[in-house]
Amino acid sequence: MSELYDLAILGAGPAGISAAIYAARARLNTLWIERKFAQGGQIVDTYEVDNYPGLPGINGMDLGEKMAAHAEKLGLTPLRENVVSVEDEDGIKVIRTKKNEYRARAVILAFGAAHRTLGIPGEEALSGMGVSYCATCDGAFFRDRTVAVIGGGNVAAEDAILLSRTCKKVYVIHRRDQMRADQILQEKLFACENVEMIWDTVPVSIEGEEMVSGIKLQNKKTGEEKVLSLDGVFIAVGIVPNTELFGDLVKLDESGYIVAGEDCVTSTPGIFAAGDIRTKQLRQVITAAADGANAVISAEKIL
Ligand code: NAP
Repeated sequence: MSELYDLAILGAGPAGISAAIYAARARLNTLWIERKFAQGGQIVDTYEVDNYPGLPGINGMDLGEKMAAHAEKLGLTPLRENVVSVEDEDGIKVIRTKKNEYRARAVILAFGAAHRTLGIPGEEALSGMGVSYCATCDGAFFRDRTVAVIGGGNVAAEDAILLSRTCKKVYVIHRRDQMRADQILQEKLFACENVEMIWDTVPVSIEGEEMVSGIKLQNKKTGEEKVLSLDGVFIAVGIVPNTELFGDLVKLDESGYIVAGEDCVTSTPGIFAAGDIRTKQLRQVITAAADGANAVISAEKIL
């Protein structure tokens, strides 16, 4: 029979790393698993994080590395494995990866969320051929080119600001007539001279044979359709929680998020949910890090 850990932490974004820091300080016998090499979750793809106290304007990758180094200093680094199932077997949590099987008395689910797709013709076929979900990763390929960013949230605004520094022209295509991005980001965005907003408009299809050549748009108010010539399309239409493995384990809400409050307690005893994966008002680095701490405190109560 394999070793029985006190706690398993699944994921190494800000929530998972923060949980690891608190678990190490609580001297819990902890198993920590992350499938990706880079730690930091979604912030790794973020050019600049400007609202984490004490570290204004820090690059997302740098912030992830700093957080991971903190956990490592306390003796915890994640195993690089791909979790394929988590089950509750008479109160013992069994975590299976592609290679191994582990057992723990409590589990913190901190798998975060991933980008949402539009589901329109051309999107999948041209992914990596001009369609991107990460301006920080792919923006440099579009120097002096014309691109569009789809979306009206913080990520869309940040992506468009970043791309405006190197691209010739950046269109921001949004389905409503106002953005939901933070006011400070909107001010920065509207001050970019080579950014043009296209309001009340949805993408219908992404055009191109081998590479993106344009995007077909429809104005929602007039119904009018037109094709805009482009070299790249950056899709920033929100996130979906990485909960596909957990539907039978814990209660999910109608959008797929794990139902849990600030104490991170889920519908299943001994299973806790931290960060973007759970129901919450605000999904940011600071709230994810707070969840990691709260989840460990809640787990300690049942250990
Ligand atoms: P978001 O805030 O959910 O915004 C998604 C945007 O995409 C919305 O403007 C939405 O339109 C639009 N959209 C959704 N589905 C669409 C569709 N099918 N077609 C066209 N447009 C669609 O997502 P996000 O910007 O990716 O941010 C994700 C989370 O990370 C948020 O909680 C955000 O606050 C957080 N974040 C924070 C920061 C920061 O604090 N600096 C930075 C990055 C991310 P509607 O507005 O009409 O709904």
